[in-house]
Amino acid sequence: MIDLHTHTSESDGSLSPRELVELAARLKLEALGITDHDTLAGYDRAAGYAKAAGLEIVCGIELTTRWEGRKTVHLLGYFAGELPSADFREWLIEMQAQRRERNERLAARLCELGATVRLEEVEALGRSLAGRPHFARLLVQKGYCSNTDEAFRMYLDESAPGYVERNAPSTAFAIQQLLEAGGIPVLAHPVRLGIRDTVLEERMICGMTEAGLAGIEAFHSDHSASDAARYEALARKLALKVTGGSDFHGDPKPDIALGSGRRNLNIPVDLLRQLRD
Ligand code: AMP
Ligand code: ZN
Ligand code: FE
Ligand code: FE
Repeated sequence: MIDLHTHTSESDGSLSPRELVELAARLKLEALGITDHDTLAGYDRAAGYAKAAGLEIVCGIELTTRWEGRKTVHLLGYFAGELPSADFREWLIEMQAQRRERNERLAARLCELGATVRLEEVEALGRSLAGRPHFARLLVQKGYCSNTDEAFRMYLDESAPGYVERNAPSTAFAIQQLLEAGGIPVLAHPVRLGIRDTVLEERMICGMTEAGLAGIEAFHSDHSASDAARYEALARKLALKVTGGSDFHGDPKPDIALGSGRRNLNIPVDLLRQLRD
C-alpha cells in the first residue's frame, strides 16, 4: 500500500510530521507522499523520522491555482528525484502570503456575517499556515456551528456566503514553476473540478497537458471506481503519469484513513516507479 497525498499539521492536517511518519510505518505503507498546502515544512520535518523508520517518503506540495481565470484547480507537485530549488522555496513564500491575505479577508467576512472570529484565534489553531479547516474548527468551538461540515455548509464552502476568493497563480504558471524546480505537476482529485460532461472535462485536462501537466491523480478518496477508471484511460490517452492518494488530514476529515481513504482505496504500488522514472 502507498499513499501519495497527505497533509500534516504544517498545513491543515492534525498529525505532526513525526506522527504521520509513525502512523505510516505502523500501517507498513511502502511509500508516503507528503503534500501540504503551500509549504514543504511538513516534508522537511518528516524526512529524518522517515529515514530512521525505514519508510520511503516522497517530497510533494499542493498548490491552489486558477484555470483560465475562473476555476479553482488544486495542483500537486512531486519532487521524486532532486529536492526543490531555492527559487521554488522563495516562490512558496509568495503563495503563503496570498493565503494569509485571503485569511484576513475571510475573517473580516465572517465578522460581517455575525460570526466573530479573529485571525489570531485561527492562527493559534494552525502551526504555520491556517486554512479553512481551522476556521471551521474555530466556528464550532465558538458555538456558531455544531460541526465542521455545517461550518463549511453555512460559511466556508465555495457556494457559501462566507467564501472569499483567493489570489492564486494561473494553473499554467504554477505548472511552469514546478517544472523549472524539477517537480512533476499533477492534477489533484480531478473529480472536484465538478465537470459533469466528460467531453468538457477531457478538453480542460487536455488544455492543462498542453501547458505542461505531467500527471493525473486517478486514485483519490473522492473518486468512485468508475472515476478512477476514466482518469486512468485519460492518462493513457494523453500520456500522463497516474498517481493516487487518500488526501489524509487526520481529525479534520475523520472518515478518511491513511492509505485506504474511505477504506476502499487501493493504490497500485507501481505508480511510485512511474513517478520516479
Ligand atoms: P483552503 O486551502 O484554506 O482554502 O482549504 C482547503 C481545505 O478545506 C481542503 O483540505 C479541503 O478539503 C477543505 N474543504 C474545502 N471544502 C470543504 C467542504 N465543503 N467540507 C469539508 N472540507 C472542505
Ligand atoms: Zn487540506
Ligand atoms: Fe485539494
Ligand atoms: Fe489535499
